[in-house]
Amino acid sequence: MDGASTEAIPPEDAFALLGHDIRISIVQALWELDNEPASFSELRDTAAITDSGQFNYHLGELRGVFVRETEDGYALNYAGRSVVGAILDGTYTKQRRVPEYGAGFRCAVCDTELTASYSDSAFRITCTECDYLISRVDLPPGAVDDRDESALVSTASYWIQAKFFLITNGVCPNCAGPMEHSWRTDVAYENHEFVLQADCADCINTATATGIWAYANHPAVVSFFYDHDINLHENWWHSQLLIGGGAARIRSRDPWRGAVSYAVDGEVLALVVDESGQVVAGERR
Ligand SMILES: [Zn+2]
Ligand SMILES: [Zn+2]
Repeated sequence: MDGASTEAIPPEDAFALLGHDIRISIVQALWELDNEPASFSELRDTAAITDSGQFNYHLGELRGVFVRETEDGYALNYAGRSVVGAILDGTYTKQRRVPEYGAGFRCAVCDTELTASYSDSAFRITCTECDYLISRVDLPPGAVDDRDESALVSTASYWIQAKFFLITNGVCPNCAGPMEHSWRTDVAYENHEFVLQADCADCINTATATGIWAYANHPAVVSFFYDHDINLHENWWHSQLLIGGGAARIRSRDPWRGAVSYAVDGEVLALVVDESGQVVAGERR
């Protein structure tokens, strides 16, 4: 769609706006007011800024970028809630670390219990026996607070599924812009003749994933696993743990068709995908 854009300020100016203590006090006050629209005086009192002229000036600077003005008063807009919320919630500032612990499920290759850990704002699943990093997921530190070890595994599982749900359906999880899909044949994984490459047309977001990983949220796959008593939503890594029984094979080149297959308990589900990544058929055998 064209014609829907409005004027934007350069990113460096937007971030520079938050480099002033009065402006931080204002956005913090809006956050503390639970983002209910606040009147000029209510906001000034909550922000504890006595100089009305200074307050007025800095509020004006924030308006339109991080703050919206409605009939009922001032509130954070979407950018304000995202950036300011992340700063005040500690996404960029809080440090959390969870040393390696038993993840509660086993390596498909060596049958050792896998380990989970959290550091540097990333959750990891590793096989210490195979010395192999199975998965690394960027995850805000809020995931760690008030959760036990097994809840952290499922939280990371939900988080990555939500992102992949968007990516495989062509929506960038960073900016909601269109994600373009292509199949790459230059990245070698065992049993995989192609992997999915997804690139955002609007921002720098990019993702590479095996087909097994990428289609784990497809309804045919979720129900296939569910029929075998595995809830993929609670533990998405099961889809990858079963990678040994899964595969991605090129079926034809003109038209291009690939098959992404999953195997559980001797049954196989094959998704037939076209060049753009659309699923055109699902077969169980
Ligand atoms: Zn292993
Ligand atoms: Zn994007």
